[in-house]
Amino acid sequence: MTDFLLVGGGIIGLGLAYELSRRGMTVTVVEQGEWGGQASSAAAGMLAPLKEFSQPGPMLELGMKSLELYPDWVEQLEAITGIDVQACKSGLLTVALTEEEAIPLQEKYKRQKASGYAVQWMTGQEMRRVEPLLTEEAKAGIYSPEEGHINNRMLLNALVAACRRLGATLVSGSVVTKMAIEGSQVVGVETTTGPLRAAHTVIASGAWAGIMVDWLGFSVPVRPVRGQVASVSSSGIPLRTVIFGTSGYITPKLDGKIVLGATEDDAGFQRHVTLSGLSRVLDGVMPYVPALHSAAFQQAWAGLRPATADSMPLLGPVPGWQGVSIAGGHFRNGILLSPVTAKVMADYLESGREEPLQPFLPSRFLGSTMSK
Ligand SMILES: Cc1cc2nc3c(=O)[nH]c(=O)nc-3n(C[C@H](O)[C@H](O)[C@H](O)COP(=O)(O)OP(=O)(O)OC[C@H]3O[C@@H](n4cnc5c(N)ncnc54)[C@H](O)[C@@H]3O)c2cc1C
Repeated sequence: MTDFLLVGGGIIGLGLAYELSRRGMTVTVVEQGEWGGQASSAAAGMLAPLKEFSQPGPMLELGMKSLELYPDWVEQLEAITGIDVQACKSGLLTVALTEEEAIPLQEKYKRQKASGYAVQWMTGQEMRRVEPLLTEEAKAGIYSPEEGHINNRMLLNALVAACRRLGATLVSGSVVTKMAIEGSQVVGVETTTGPLRAAHTVIASGAWAGIMVDWLGFSVPVRPVRGQVASVSSSGIPLRTVIFGTSGYITPKLDGKIVLGATEDDAGFQRHVTLSGLSRVLDGVMPYVPALHSAAFQQAWAGLRPATADSMPLLGPVPGWQGVSIAGGHFRNGILLSPVTAKVMADYLESGREEPLQPFLPSRFLGSTMSK
């Protein structure tokens, strides 16, 4: 019997397990495959709330809070584990190639600037001073110097190592098959390798969270959205900045890779790379950095983003049950949102106070509750 059982060993489950362990709780994490082997290792690792959330509101606030938490989060993880997670505040350029594309970007810039965020409006020439490899075709865009990226695979390794160091029990290769229930209390889960019991179970199973919550008769709209990405070698292509265009993004990492992305496909739980997906990714990025035409191709891969019906995460208790919560539905931004999710969920699990989780509470989907 453990205080907390996390179902799912992606960035969200491992991040929360780390935070709870740091606070002195006993924690078990159960993962069906390899640690971080699904969406969390497929991600490009960008930390880009200003790019991702164009409207002021709860998502931008959550994203900015997480970006703010990142330096400490990384520093502590590196101190505990000695693993360099390659965090980089590279800055990010959102680029318009035509005057027409520049119009909505300028609107976004004005909104964010008026709210006090660190963004700059730049001409094509100014952007090329920031990133000399940017195409001559770039007309204008937004530069956000505070955004950047991380090596999400190294971050996952660090979280696993830190959880172990702090005494968490990590069970991989074990598939959760149902919830263990006593009355209206969830007391743990049944798995293919035996029962696991806990005072509180947190469903952090990414694109599979909806299936698990369904077992409790509560329907949350979580669906998988496949993202296909590719990488090329940065050798001879010394990019400095993340570049985002209307048809793709280019993320130069510190490990010698440039990650190019990404599709958004409704393909159910299929996770393979398709030729048309790969060709869309490559065609989408090359107009922004012509030097990519001669880049050495490395790899292509895909992952399943956990998307909710309103594109906001699900954080908090499963309505109608004791002893069970959800931390999921982070869609395109689970890497960015991992520290803030760990913090707000751990605060809730310690205090029982739900208000700080508004408007992310799963109960917002109560209309879709099915009978238990
Ligand atoms: C191509 C792509 C690019 C992305 N780029 C970025 C980015 O640049 N920045 C960013 O912030 N985010 C990005 N994301 C989004 C980010 O990857 C996700 O939001 C995040 O990884 C979700 O984390 P998770 O832990 O909820 O899900 P997952 O990583 O999918 O983890 C859930 C885990 O639960 C396990 N599980 C499921 N069912 C069971 C079961 N029955 N029993 C036991 N275990 C189970 C799974 O095996 C899995 O490991 C990207 C995603 C993709 C696909």
